Amino acid sequence: MSYMALYRKFRPSEFSEVRGQEHIVTTLKNQIKADRIGHAYLFCGTRGTGKTTVAKIFAKAVNCEHPVDGNPCGTCAACRSIAAGTSMNVIEIDAASNNGVDNIREIREEVAYSPTEGKYKVYIIDEVHMLSIGAFNALLKTLEEPPSYVIFILATTEVHKIPVTILSRCQRYDFRRITADVITDRLRELTEREGVQTEEKALRYIAKAADGSMRDALSLLDQCIAFYLDQELTYDHVLDVLGAVDTEVYSRLLRLTLSQDLPGVMEQIEELVVQGRELSQFVTDFTWYLRNLLLLKTSDNMEDVLDVSTENLKRLQEEARMIETDTLMRYIRIFSELGGQIRYASQKRVLVEVAFIKLCRPAMETNTDVILDRIRILERQLEESLEEIASGGAYLYQNSGQQGHRREAFPAQVETEAPPPAPEALPEDVEAVVKNWHQVTNRLHPLLRTYLKGARLKALGGGKLGIIAATPTGEAFLKEEAHLREIRNVILQDTGKEMEILVACAQTDPHKDVGAIDIEQVIHTEIEYEDE
Ligand SMILES: [Zn+2]
Repeated sequence: MSYMALYRKFRPSEFSEVRGQEHIVTTLKNQIKADRIGHAYLFCGTRGTGKTTVAKIFAKAVNCEHPVDGNPCGTCAACRSIAAGTSMNVIEIDAASNNGVDNIREIREEVAYSPTEGKYKVYIIDEVHMLSIGAFNALLKTLEEPPSYVIFILATTEVHKIPVTILSRCQRYDFRRITADVITDRLRELTEREGVQTEEKALRYIAKAADGSMRDALSLLDQCIAFYLDQELTYDHVLDVLGAVDTEVYSRLLRLTLSQDLPGVMEQIEELVVQGRELSQFVTDFTWYLRNLLLLKTSDNMEDVLDVSTENLKRLQEEARMIETDTLMRYIRIFSELGGQIRYASQKRVLVEVAFIKLCRPAMETNTDVILDRIRILERQLEESLEEIASGGAYLYQNSGQQGHRREAFPAQVETEAPPPAPEALPEDVEAVVKNWHQVTNRLHPLLRTYLKGARLKALGGGKLGIIAATPTGEAFLKEEAHLREIRNVILQDTGKEMEILVACAQTDPHKDVGAIDIEQVIHTEIEYEDE
């Protein structure tokens, strides 16, 4: 026996099997019981929510010889021939491929003949928004004066594309996205029937990934079962098949963000990209993660609502204590905006990186909700410097940790007392910095790194470093005091020396400003520097 996709195999054949659309099913059943059937229905809603399934059950029910409580009996000749797809009374049209005037004219001609058997001819037009304007007009004529034995069921995912003239002639039914709970229950029921062992968490994950679509959920389940045939379907298996990111990654990213460790965040993103993760999905999942945190933070007894493992819950609770509610709201705002943009973007990675920069550096944003965050960061820095002063270690830039440098996103913005000045750099320090320049740039702000990419370096006399920007814009950017300060700070961490930096531009003044040249090091050859 050939394999049959789950969503075909378990397609509901009567109203009671339809999940998550009770409001629609009840109304339709009542119409059938009261024999008050309309002639034009519009079923709208996202894909996989049961529009065509309900349309077919409805077609069966109106033609059934002895319906039971509005449901088709499933055994009479009419029910059987409709189920087998051989009935002349149910005509399914895919408007995506039959969208012309002629297709609709054909229907109009056919409509003139009453059914040879059964009570109703039911026309199910799927993706009806795809019809041309001419076709809509032709359809409208039929809808204006439908023969008593004809029912039109128009189905669409994009109701805003349907002309008002058509809308006004139809009874409209909005199919809801199906909740993760309802989908999970259905998946459990079907896997039990199929004799497939599953972990509850695995089914939950599939249900959530399907985002309201039962058909998608069943297709995903199919994929997972096929991949791990005759094995228990575990959470890990599902993650594996769906290419999903385990929640630990979000936790790591969040903690790095909270400590404003931008280089660490960038490393994590790099890792995701290397692993071949789909970044739009990642953005959706991370937003969901933040939403869970918010729920946990703002209400009690949320543990049951969040379906996460005990160990993940512990981690979440810990993080909820680490983050302020308004910070969390700001993060969610940035990520939901990103979710809207990223789907069709070509530079997905850049967008994700920029979003994290915004999270780490509220100073770069202008929204009002960042102000609290900025104040909080300043307060914390103030507190830290006070503590350092109190403990006698007032020097902000000592090497710490095995990294050999301190990852500080906000270097020295708050200094209650100036640290003792570091010694000035010597020519050999400059040479060392020029040689190991990538180690410096690696730790800089990504924007700074971008402008430094085309730049060239010169070790100047007197322990000064010359940076020759490729463009005037780059020059102006690098010359800004805050940016120079950032570069100097990184150098300070490495050498323990204060290095004077001069910036010039290769296009405008190759020699001016830069001073006498001792050694010349070309670090990037994309920009040719011409010596006369
Ligand atoms: Zn029947």
